[in-house]
Parts: sequence; C-alpha cells; structure tokens
Amino acid sequence: MMLQIVPDGKGDENDFEHLVQLTETVKNEELFELEAEEVLYRLYHQETVQLFDPQAVEFMCGCSRDKSAAAIVSLGRDEADTILAENGNLTLHCDYCNADYVFDSIDVAALFENGAVGSNQVH
Ligand SMILES: [Zn+2]
Repeated sequence: MMLQIVPDGKGDENDFEHLVQLTETVKNEELFELEAEEVLYRLYHQETVQLFDPQAVEFMCGCSRDKSAAAIVSLGRDEADTILAENGNLTLHCDYCNADYVFDSIDVAALFENGAVGSNQVH
C-alpha cells in the first residue's frame, strides 16, 4: 500500500501525517482479503475519498524504425558509412524497450538517397 501526495494546492503536511496514521492501522489480512473499496472505507470513512476508474496498464515505447532512420540521417553520410565499414551494419538499440533497429548498407544508402537531410543531391 502506498500513500502519495498529489499537488492540488489544498491541504498541508498535517493532513498527510493524519492519513499516514490512519493507514498504519491497516492489517495484512485486510490488504490480502478485502476489495480495495472496502479497505478504503475502513481506513478513511471519515475523510473525503474519491475513487477513480481503474485503467489497464500497458507497456509502450515511443521508439520506431523511422525515428532510428532520422537519427542515422542526423549522423551524416560519412559517419554512417564509417560505422557500416566497421560493423557491417548500423544497429540502433533502444535501452527502454530493448528493441534493435538494424540498417544494412542498402538501407543506409536509401536513407541518404531519398532526398533525406544531409544528402548531397544535385538537382
Ligand atoms: Zn523502444
């Protein structure tokens, strides 16, 4: 069970202390055996309680192959070619979701030849 202060411009630290004291009266059995609403009622029935609708938790990462491609373009052609020569491909790893975006020499060439920023196209 976790108590957290949410900034709403109302109340003070004494209010939080009061809630901490009420919360400390909860018993393990109550947490394991009762529905959340029942626990809230037992602990805070003299307080104003607002219960929000539950939301499904879902993992999401904002990374994408397009964003990785944009990062390669921002490196510039020379730097991208240097990495390609050293590694055989250019791999961008997302530390957040653990995805790998692999670009081989054909992919990289296409990025710079499709009118992307940093290409040396002659019009
Ligand atoms: Zn990611």
